[in-house]
Amino acid sequence: MNEFIVSARKYRPQNFNTVVGQQHITTTLKNAIKTGQLAHAFLFCGPRGVGKTTCARILAKTINCENLQPDGEACNECHSCKSFEEGTSLNIHELDAASNNSVDDIRALVEQVRFAPQAGKYKIYIVDEVHMLSASAFNAFLKTLEEPPGYAKFILATTEKHKILPTILSRCQIFDFKRITSNDTVEHLAEIIANEHIQAEKAALQVIAQKSEGCMRDALSILDKIVSFTGGTVTYQNTLENLNILDEDYFFKLIDALLTQNLADTLLLFDEINRKGFEGDIVLNGFATCLRNVLVCKDARALQLLDVVAGMEEKYKSYAQKISTAFLVSALQIINEAEVQYKMARNKRLHVEMMLIKINYLQQAIEITSANGFVAKKKRLDGPIAIATKSLPSLTTKASSAEAANSNAAAKLYIETPAAASNRPSAIAAPTATEVATPAPTPAISGGLGQQAPSGGSKPDLLALLQQHTAARGYTVSAVKQPQALTVEKLRAAWDAYAQNYLANTKLSAFAAFQQAELVVESDIRFMVRTNSHINKNFIESEKTMLSDFIQQSFTNINITFGIEVNASDVVVNIERPLSNRERYEQLATQYPTLRALKEGLRLEIE
Ligand SMILES: [Zn+2]
Repeated sequence: MNEFIVSARKYRPQNFNTVVGQQHITTTLKNAIKTGQLAHAFLFCGPRGVGKTTCARILAKTINCENLQPDGEACNECHSCKSFEEGTSLNIHELDAASNNSVDDIRALVEQVRFAPQAGKYKIYIVDEVHMLSASAFNAFLKTLEEPPGYAKFILATTEKHKILPTILSRCQIFDFKRITSNDTVEHLAEIIANEHIQAEKAALQVIAQKSEGCMRDALSILDKIVSFTGGTVTYQNTLENLNILDEDYFFKLIDALLTQNLADTLLLFDEINRKGFEGDIVLNGFATCLRNVLVCKDARALQLLDVVAGMEEKYKSYAQKISTAFLVSALQIINEAEVQYKMARNKRLHVEMMLIKINYLQQAIEITSANGFVAKKKRLDGPIAIATKSLPSLTTKASSAEAANSNAAAKLYIETPAAASNRPSAIAAPTATEVATPAPTPAISGGLGQQAPSGGSKPDLLALLQQHTAARGYTVSAVKQPQALTVEKLRAAWDAYAQNYLANTKLSAFAAFQQAELVVESDIRFMVRTNSHINKNFIESEKTMLSDFIQQSFTNINITFGIEVNASDVVVNIERPLSNRERYEQLATQYPTLRALKEGLRLEIE
């Protein structure tokens, strides 16, 4: 056991039947050998570590075998097979084009082709990474490749088929190697484990197969490493530790916290993961993979794409039942954006936390959005339909005289706030203080109230009922606020209040972007934001979700939307160019005609 060495070399397949995951190729090759219809040049394409070179060597050995088996395999016993296995055969030449890519290297190879083999039937030339050959080397190769002597066979291997010249492609029989599937890798690893009398959990092998991403060489060297670290007992846990992979259970815990909008739990969990030494990018990547696998479970037909360790399938399926597709897709989108920007983020930890915070509120956002259609059916802006039972004395006393004239108490509450906001420099919380405290009620509730409201009398009871009803669902209902129609003044006030956030955080450029934006109200629920530059537009766009939420809350109208555009007139930038001497003269001459007379009279020239 102590001498155990699993290695790609020790378990390199000796014949076609033991090649993992490339049956479509080995069968074709065996048939060609059996019928004696071998091409003189082959091109093996495919990702690294899937068996291209291995197949090339087996092919070389097999066609030289003195005692070919009826099934088209080499005997592995004759003199020729033995010499191939020992690496002493003179009939095989390997050239690594990655390091020998000059014309001279190819000329040396072509020179060798002229000599017939001393023993055996065929001389085989394997050119690895053939796409690395220089253009002139390719050209030097073409002639030989087209009309080689009968005893010469060429096997070209590449990971990048698209870089091969068409003239080469047309002269070769092309074989496309597939990425080795996780299942094939696991089976192969299990065979090795059994041979070497090692204890290994199947889940551990699955993790290794996933990590190796279809590359058998990687899978074997990972297994090698873990066996030597763990002294021969490979478990799921020690494999995760060795490969620095985060246990999926953490992701499920994260999902649990996020679905219940438990931000504290979410952040604490991330902290725990962080303290275990996992960087943010590992979390992003692992979380995305986990959500992807849950998404795959949504449809039975896509189940075959589920690539998870043994015993976890049911868990994924049960989560697929309880998470909506909208949530999964949106969360994946958020994670993807975070991944793209991860490298640029200065504060990596905060960056990932922001991602988690966004997903934390995702469920709420989806509920509101999907409810939109229903809420929009009611004419929320016609007449007094809202009920307001909760008085807010601090605000009503500050009512400006003009707006105090408004008889609707509920409406007054909203009208006043922007005015109050503009009076108070630190009034960031002014429009929100009253409303943000009340998360947007579920559509059923606001709908129900809207219909009940005009009947009057039973308002408090209904409210109490609702409070009871919704408390269980984690909402607090204080009073339904009347949706407000958009007006430029109120919008501007809310807008500025939002911008104050940046001022408070001394993000002046961000503040300026908001300050400079022009707001144009298009309808009761739609307005346009006109910025004077693409930078400002992009910035405001990046804030759209939060901003939209804020505006909707400020007007208690979840139908409010907005678009952002760059002010066309400002896009054309007039850059002041210094005038040439002639231009300056023309300008002055138009202004003072005597100047022209003076110039002509004195026959002056402009330099
Ligand atoms: Zn043989």
